Amino acid sequence: MIQPRDNALVVLSGGQDSTTSLYWAIERFGRASVSSITFDYGQKHRIELECARNVAAAAGVANVCLPIDTFAALGGDALTDAAVAVSDEADEETELPVTFVPGRNLIFITFAAAFAYRRDARHLVTGVAQTDYSGYPDCREATMAALQEAITLGMDREFMIHTPLMHRTKKETVELAVQLGALEAMALTHTCYNGCRPPCGECQACRLRAGGFAEAGVRDPLLDIR
Ligand code: ZN
Repeated sequence: MIQPRDNALVVLSGGQDSTTSLYWAIERFGRASVSSITFDYGQKHRIELECARNVAAAAGVANVCLPIDTFAALGGDALTDAAVAVSDEADEETELPVTFVPGRNLIFITFAAAFAYRRDARHLVTGVAQTDYSGYPDCREATMAALQEAITLGMDREFMIHTPLMHRTKKETVELAVQLGALEAMALTHTCYNGCRPPCGECQACRLRAGGFAEAGVRDPLLDIR
């Protein structure tokens, strides 16, 4: 098995968590060893792509955006299907939120690994977390451990998936961002399920984010943009 170099690739969505994870990676691996990848998966809120670009530029790392246009064709989730509205309602059968895009993180990280393979990077960094969140099964530690094994076997390269936020609450994620000097970059991020910047403040994503900042006693710089 070939041992790739210690370069790191961060899956950057332009949101609070992936932005914090990007700054974590810069501290851990050094800026020169870090780059970022963003997926255009047909998300209704195109502003995410612009936010990811802006965050990467502010952090001083490269950002590549790759297209995956299959999720919107599958339909049925509130993030890519124009016919499904964002709401707090869960799917009756699965009890998962309507914002769950089945397979999204599995596919993102598999594509990130394929990209990293070509660029001699072995560390993949993602902002997924199993604490405090919506219960997406593809954000869980067991999923990531199994995926790490699958991509390592499937590409015959020793990949490591890093999940710095896995066991942190939203409050602890805010505290980590402060500690890493990532707070200013939070003004460039996007979290709202309704696609609003400044945020709507009403949707589940906005409420989770606001709760984390409030508990940490930190003012969210995103609230001060115009
Ligand atoms: Zn919102």
